[in-house]
Amino acid sequence: MSKLMVSVSGIRGIYGESLTAEIAMKYAAHFGIFSGRGKIVVGRDSRTTGPAMFNAVTSGLMSVGCDVVDIGVVSTPTVLLAVEESDAMGGISITASHNSAEWNAMKFVAENGMFLFPENASALVSSFDNKVDYICWDKIGKLTQDDNAIERHINKIMNISYLNLNEIKAKKFKVVIDSVNGAGGLISPQLLKDLGCEVIEINSEPTGIFAHTPEPLNKNLKQLEEAVKEHKADVGFATDPDVDRLAIVDENGNCIGEEFSLLLSEKFILSKVKGDIVTNLSSSMASEDIAAYFGVKVHRTKVGEINVGKKMMEINSPVGGEGNGGVICPEVHFTRDAPAGMAVILGYLAESGKTVSELADQIPKYYFAKNKIKVDPSLLDAIMQKVPDIFSDYKLDTTDGIKILGDKFWIHIRKSGTEPIIRVYVESETTERSETICKETIEKLVG
Ligand code: MG
Repeated sequence: MSKLMVSVSGIRGIYGESLTAEIAMKYAAHFGIFSGRGKIVVGRDSRTTGPAMFNAVTSGLMSVGCDVVDIGVVSTPTVLLAVEESDAMGGISITASHNSAEWNAMKFVAENGMFLFPENASALVSSFDNKVDYICWDKIGKLTQDDNAIERHINKIMNISYLNLNEIKAKKFKVVIDSVNGAGGLISPQLLKDLGCEVIEINSEPTGIFAHTPEPLNKNLKQLEEAVKEHKADVGFATDPDVDRLAIVDENGNCIGEEFSLLLSEKFILSKVKGDIVTNLSSSMASEDIAAYFGVKVHRTKVGEINVGKKMMEINSPVGGEGNGGVICPEVHFTRDAPAGMAVILGYLAESGKTVSELADQIPKYYFAKNKIKVDPSLLDAIMQKVPDIFSDYKLDTTDGIKILGDKFWIHIRKSGTEPIIRVYVESETTERSETICKETIEKLVG
């Protein structure tokens, strides 16, 4: 039996086990009260459990007095934008993001169209133990539908100031898009057509029966790689089911890795708008090379897009995001947005006249090694406490776990928020070096 995961980013579980309609209704009711019983935007990805979740969530919200605006099957960034651009007090995106089909979840959105800031999210989480204070029949909320949220999202992307739409359209790029039967099929092909592309769609039907493992990692994108080769396309794009992560396949049919979605976006946007960039502590140090080239700085935050987005807002950053394909273009909003990322990449291709592989080759190459240590929960803190002694010769960053900063390498050691594991991430100039450092670090920690 799986456990319901309750965290600052929302609740997540396997539908019919840890997550039921009853549970969804209760948490939605709590969120409605937390949001002042105002108007709430609700969208969902394409999962088969989406309609049942939607009805439970809506019932919980209306029963505490919230008016609900149903924006249908949409991407998470579409929900975020719909909240930001309306008078709603918040939103709920019903999606388990990159998790497989048996999972579903609720992501809570604040009035400003971003995920809840961590300090507000913990107030919400602590309210979950309260008894729900339902309202009387005559104060029940209303349900309305808004069918234009996707169209408005596309328009906002098409209006990014540094995109030269005529130049992009003139190129008539041939693009293969793999939406993995998630919500992306309803936005990405349309956006690409609006950008003048010849679009080859794979897994566009939003059935929630995912054609492959939905996380857009290289190993899950063989079908896209083949399709790019077969159609001799200029580029292939893949997104996760709620369309906030973007992966890119080059013109030779090779995945270039999710890190490059952010790195290429940084490079293009910085050539247009100067300003410091923001990414999390576990994303590639190639960002520092790109920033140095443009004479700007990189700000590193805790892992989690809300931390990146919040910092970007504070310093008015022109571009940032996370290395897992999470591109943030503030001209659209301060949250990860894969369709916006696609438009930026096409803008870069059009202006540079280069191919995806040529652009990727211009970015310094570093290699990750990622592993985890499974330990008894009672030992987690003791292991973390050993880190400063083991690495006493190095500069340490303790913003989020401990990051060891070496010469052309780093090691990031942090406890998972949801499981009794410690994650060890390493990046250096070669795969061999990263793997050796990762292995030796784990031996030192548990030895
Ligand atoms: Mg996602």
